[in-house]
Amino acid sequence: MRRLSAVHVRVALAGSLLVAGCGTSPAPTPAPVARALLITNARIIDGTGSSARAGSVRVRGERIVDVGELQQLQTDSVIDAGGLTLAPGFIDTHSHHDRGLDTDRSALAVVSQGLTTVVVGQDGGSHIPLAGFFAALEAHPVAINVASYVGHGSVRDSVLGANYKRPATAAEVERMRALVAQEMGAGALGLSSGLEYDPGIYSDPSEVLALAKVAADSGGRYISHMRSEDRELFKAVDELINIGRVDHMPVQISHAKLAMRSLWGRAPELIAKLDSARASGVDVTMDVYPYQFWQSTLTVLYPARDFDNRQTTDFVLREVAAPEGLLISRFEPNPEYAGKTVAQIAQMRNSDPATTLEWLILTSEAARKSGGKGGQGVIATSMDERDIAKLIAWPFANISTDGELDGRHPRGFGSFPRVLGRYVREQHVVSLEEAIRKMTSLAAHNMGIADRGTIAPGMYADLTLFDPATVIDRATPADPHALSVGIDRVWVNGTMVYAKGATTGGFPGHVIRRARRS
Ligand SMILES: [Zn+2]
Repeated sequence: MRRLSAVHVRVALAGSLLVAGCGTSPAPTPAPVARALLITNARIIDGTGSSARAGSVRVRGERIVDVGELQQLQTDSVIDAGGLTLAPGFIDTHSHHDRGLDTDRSALAVVSQGLTTVVVGQDGGSHIPLAGFFAALEAHPVAINVASYVGHGSVRDSVLGANYKRPATAAEVERMRALVAQEMGAGALGLSSGLEYDPGIYSDPSEVLALAKVAADSGGRYISHMRSEDRELFKAVDELINIGRVDHMPVQISHAKLAMRSLWGRAPELIAKLDSARASGVDVTMDVYPYQFWQSTLTVLYPARDFDNRQTTDFVLREVAAPEGLLISRFEPNPEYAGKTVAQIAQMRNSDPATTLEWLILTSEAARKSGGKGGQGVIATSMDERDIAKLIAWPFANISTDGELDGRHPRGFGSFPRVLGRYVREQHVVSLEEAIRKMTSLAAHNMGIADRGTIAPGMYADLTLFDPATVIDRATPADPHALSVGIDRVWVNGTMVYAKGATTGGFPGHVIRRARRS
């Protein structure tokens, strides 16, 4: 039973005085009493890495105002957490959940994972101009907070257009630098690149360095889907580290992975390389998602774009992914192949896997070039779980999804609960508190986002209430939109957006712009 506090009495008296309006001298005007949300009976993991502790959190408006052993006030609306764990809302530092967000404003894929902030504009692809994207989000707010990088590929596309399969000229680099400066002015967190994709793959490292410098000069950062995640992984890491060293900016590897059989087991070598760069003064970090399979286009399997080179194809099938591990997620020239592996399609076509893989790519490329529908996608099993665990455990690695609202890869719905269930509870890769730090304050730090990522007075009230004993992903490649379990309730900027398996219809999300330098 709740005790009537002194505050309650004061509020009641002030109210009656106002109504009565009695007395000869005017009664002192009471300060308006805003109602607050009090979440009681929680195990609080504050995001800093500190141990869980029992307590309550009070939220007024969009901010956390108090944390600890709190007395209930008469103005509090109380939610009893029932002993569940309350963490800062999770932050996804590599997201494609902006696709379709204008119609799916509740962002079920996002909030059902306990995520409250997504960072988009990844892999070199962003909205341009960002000012328009941000304005649209503010005119029609969504359930979640959104921040964005400016994409190198999008900038390159704006300047080089269709004639992009070559290094840019000095004049073009200057025009791209101006565009990056404009987008940094709009609030981009920094520059992203996708150097395994068109058109970024055709850029010279000096071009990327020159554009990243513009972001660095604005206090921004660099994040990269690197030139290679398999054959030339370590060389690609060198390019990223060099940008951090020369441009004096924080640099982050997107969705770090060792995506080739002969790289399996070499996560310690990668981490040693990054640790040594950090020791020499380079602020290098990474994000990682918890799956052994990636999703992309078939073309990334061929960095030289030599789609009919049988030697390359044999290498791909031997080293990068077996025919049984290449699941076609989309194939517009023949949609019935979606959901089947290259091994299965080869059988259907009475062919062998190598011929079939080449046929799939060449057919989609031909359709695309003739202006038809050539869209394709693949989910490829290329990683070893022991490497994933080592990457997750690296103290400077935060968690990401690389997911979409309506994607075929289960990461769009399952990544964060999967880390909490599989890698924390089942495999003890890191402690729960450390995992939460990676999902919150470290992610905010790695993105340069202030005022979010910890539970403390003054911070925005992005909060996730979950059950560490049951939390787990349910999404699979066969059922990629299955909801995770164990995420109980989620608040964004003090407003509940998700409760017990359903979105609430609240749209409290903010656009997060890079904090300007004073
Ligand atoms: Zn990527």
